[in-house]
Amino acid sequence: MIRSDEFYMHRALDQAHLAAEMGEVPVGAVVVDADGRIIGEAGNAPVSSCDPSGHAEVRALRAAARQVGNYRLSGCTLFVTLEPCMMCVGAMIHARLRRLVYAAAEPRTGMVESKANLLAQPWFNHAIDVRGGVLAGQASKCLKAFFAARRNEADR
Ligand SMILES: [Zn+2]
Repeated sequence: MIRSDEFYMHRALDQAHLAAEMGEVPVGAVVVDADGRIIGEAGNAPVSSCDPSGHAEVRALRAAARQVGNYRLSGCTLFVTLEPCMMCVGAMIHARLRRLVYAAAEPRTGMVESKANLLAQPWFNHAIDVRGGVLAGQASKCLKAFFAARRNEADR
């Protein structure tokens, strides 16, 4: 059963909250197949996994690809709570993702609307549909709370 973008974004937000509990910057992602099934979900974990590529999107794509036994995720949609970076946009193109839905914009490193619009470049051999701003308020609230708590700890 295919549910609303907001439904899946709530699941991605759950992953972001779990990441925050691990002390990671709270970003979460889920991959949904063409039938609306969640086939991969993950939170941001570069610090705890000692992995510079440990962003939520990459980890969710890895989980989904393992689940279906194929590195191509044609027909799938990735939901993520923050606008993706350069690396994650690249991974989505390699996965031949059909669609990307994200919540908050990321003014410093976002490569979909903020710093550049990589997905609009004509030189990629694959196009991905994009929708931004889904539950953006909730996603940025979660990020702001995380960084505010970290600043408070630093002040102590
Ligand atoms: Zn990334």
